[in-house]
Amino acid sequence: MTNPYLPPSHSDRDVHWHAYIERCCGAPGVHSTRDERLAQQPEETFRTPEGAAEWVGAMVAAYARKDEVRLIGPMGGVGQVGDPDHVMHERRESLVILLRGDSHYVDFRGETGRVHLWVEAVTPDECKEDIVHDGDDQ
Ligand SMILES: [Zn+2]
Repeated sequence: MTNPYLPPSHSDRDVHWHAYIERCCGAPGVHSTRDERLAQQPEETFRTPEGAAEWVGAMVAAYARKDEVRLIGPMGGVGQVGDPDHVMHERRESLVILLRGDSHYVDFRGETGRVHLWVEAVTPDECKEDIVHDGDDQ
């Protein structure tokens, strides 16, 4: 029995995730649709929200343009996009969303234009038969 007082979770919803990375050229706001993405072989597939959140953090660390940012909050100071603190923050934010069984999209500035991460929550019905699941985080 699911507890009616708790928000839905990924296990109640029976979802897994298909993760795509898209480097954007073209006009701003032009990108693939969810249907187009789900028809393609994902970059990675995940069975757990933790695995998917880890991937988001790793992609930000790998592809974000390392701009300096002024940090707000009690400590202040200067940080860098894609530094360990920022990656930790992205991972945590992602996990909150993924634990609910939702899709999560992240957009950031890469070295040569915008980078989109699409982490699509997929039910067994939506998952195409020919998609290969590597299952390395099971
Ligand atoms: Zn799938």
